[in-house]
Amino acid sequence: MSVTTVQTTCPYCGVGCGVNLSCSSNATNSTITPVTGDQQHPANFGRLCVKGSSLAQTITSDDRLIVPSVYGEASTWDNATDIISQKIQEVTTKYGPDAFAFYLSGQILTEDYYVANKLAKGYIGTANVDTNSRLCMASAVVGYKRAFGSDTVPCNYEDLECCDLLIMVGSNAAWTHPVLYQRIVAAKAQRPHMKVVVIDPRRTATCDIADLHLAITPGSDAAIFSYLLQATGKKGFLDQDFIASHTDGFDSALAQAKASTPDLSSAAKFCGVTEDDLALLCDWWCDTDKSVTFYSQGVNQSSSGVDKCNAIINCHLATGRLGKPGTGPFSITGQPNAMGGREVGGLANQLAAHMDFATLGAQDLVQRFWQAPNMATENGLKAVDMFQAMEEGKIKVIWIMSTNPMVSLPNTSQVKRALEKCELVIVSDIKAHTDTTKYADILLPATGWSEKDGTVTNSERRISRQRGLLSPLGEAKHDWQAICEVAKKLGHHDAFDYSGPHQIFAEHAALSAFENNGQRDFNIGAFQDITKTEYDALLPIQWPVTQSSPEGTARMFVDKHFFTPNGRAKFIPIEPKLPVANTTDQYPFTLNTGRVRDQWHTMTRTGDAASLSQHIAQPYVEIHPDDAKKHDICDKTLVKVYSAKGQTLLKAKVTEATAPGSLFVPIHWTQQFANASIVSALIPPVVDALSGQPESKHARAALEPI
Ligand code: SF4
Repeated sequence: MSVTTVQTTCPYCGVGCGVNLSCSSNATNSTITPVTGDQQHPANFGRLCVKGSSLAQTITSDDRLIVPSVYGEASTWDNATDIISQKIQEVTTKYGPDAFAFYLSGQILTEDYYVANKLAKGYIGTANVDTNSRLCMASAVVGYKRAFGSDTVPCNYEDLECCDLLIMVGSNAAWTHPVLYQRIVAAKAQRPHMKVVVIDPRRTATCDIADLHLAITPGSDAAIFSYLLQATGKKGFLDQDFIASHTDGFDSALAQAKASTPDLSSAAKFCGVTEDDLALLCDWWCDTDKSVTFYSQGVNQSSSGVDKCNAIINCHLATGRLGKPGTGPFSITGQPNAMGGREVGGLANQLAAHMDFATLGAQDLVQRFWQAPNMATENGLKAVDMFQAMEEGKIKVIWIMSTNPMVSLPNTSQVKRALEKCELVIVSDIKAHTDTTKYADILLPATGWSEKDGTVTNSERRISRQRGLLSPLGEAKHDWQAICEVAKKLGHHDAFDYSGPHQIFAEHAALSAFENNGQRDFNIGAFQDITKTEYDALLPIQWPVTQSSPEGTARMFVDKHFFTPNGRAKFIPIEPKLPVANTTDQYPFTLNTGRVRDQWHTMTRTGDAASLSQHIAQPYVEIHPDDAKKHDICDKTLVKVYSAKGQTLLKAKVTEATAPGSLFVPIHWTQQFANASIVSALIPPVVDALSGQPESKHARAALEPI
């Protein structure tokens, strides 16, 4: 018996835990042994949550897609890529480059993202490259860029352990980022004076460690931080030196905060919390230098998500609480590689390597680096707009990679119409049957976790290797290989002739440092000459990784220099707003959506692990007892939940965890798993105007017993 082990990274959440994956083999068969946590990985130091521990159960599946299919018939890669390249050529010649689009995923690797972005933006000439990360952290990206001039997360996980006040906003980390939560629990046990505040309309499992839970009115988060800013000023706890020396715009941000939340009483009323609780938060904030604000989808998935992020960042700038241990505004990404996609420009409003189309000289620089024949010149369409353009017939060919928009995007009936309207829908996936593969004209078998090889970046900017242990199943190929095959058939042979992911990574590193003297925020130029051996041995490391910081960078803005043109951070005046969708007599509830502990996204992978159904086996709708009584609903009553966009049938879970007037439904279950409609079908396509992120947590809805 021989045992082969690789150190790889968990493919689920943005914590990015290190995992040991082993295969035992003898002369007749091979067995994958249960995975263990990597003791050396700085994200988890050996810890895993239940999803990570169950990874071995998800590797084999009866539903693996193992050969390409074209219009429902098994086919060959050669035939499938012939059809794809000919159709891309045809529609882009006839209608222009924007007739093509990629819809990617925070699940794919940085190398996959890089070649997709290069093909679309440099060679086809369209910036229609967007991703399901748009649903996850797009608002946080814009918030950071407005404040720091760059999409740069200042903090790291150690800051969560050494802070004295941790404010968790719109995050049920106990279920969604469990290993980070475990680290926080352990830190609090060791340092009992450390205070945890949870700001969330629901009482979630995360509240178990909260010293204070502010169950705010849904969507009112920005007002908490608006009041905090002006109260900090009133109480004399501003860092005047930092404000004067390193920031711009403080006076107007403070004036707006005073106008929007003039006093404790009005702020508490707007947010639906008691004056005592809000005053206590202010006291703790003012008294505690080492403060981290940890925020996630509850902040981002909002029509004013960007403003909420900047309201948080304003408070940290006003107190100089960033760039120092135990401080900072810390956006936690949902997906394993949501940040890796950002690094290469895998969003429709980015160009490449953290440069935007509006960045002075960037188009010319990237064009010269890529030797690109057909550069895109302006932003492409963000996720929701992309599918609307498909329905309008403007996008003719879409290539969807490793994501299930028929379940995850809002207004799924519109997504269905869009896919039906498209002339060619290409889906790359590991599964043959998902809610989205039904609409594929061409299905391409992709390699899955345990086969894929490349890099991902977690929430603390840490680049880690995902390493393949198993050979690709059937005819499955890596996503970068599929893209390169099509690129070559489009005539771009030399530019897409990579021998492996290490070459792509080296090119990506070289672009990040091209002609910038290490000045660009995201710069991993130290890797531009990386060899395959070095790449294979790469240890987890936090970007930037430059010639002067070859060991990576644990914390950003230590030198108080920001990536704005004048090097100073910016305060943004914020006027707190409630969700666009106000409740009405017809739709009296605010519908919140989110994750449960043991499932991931649309269950295409976790649905294969029987043990993961033991925690929660079925979808449900949480409703407060007072509302349940009013609507004659008991626990487990089957109810119809509906909005102006759609409906779904669910069992009621009557609980005081959800506030009166609110409902909560998990996002995971689909027709594949529950034979029921999808909760996203109820969500209107309302987005933040700056980030394009859908307001998935604040739909209007009604319900009635069946
Ligand atoms: Fe995987 Fe996230 Fe769990 Fe870590 S916390 S094991 S990355 S799902």
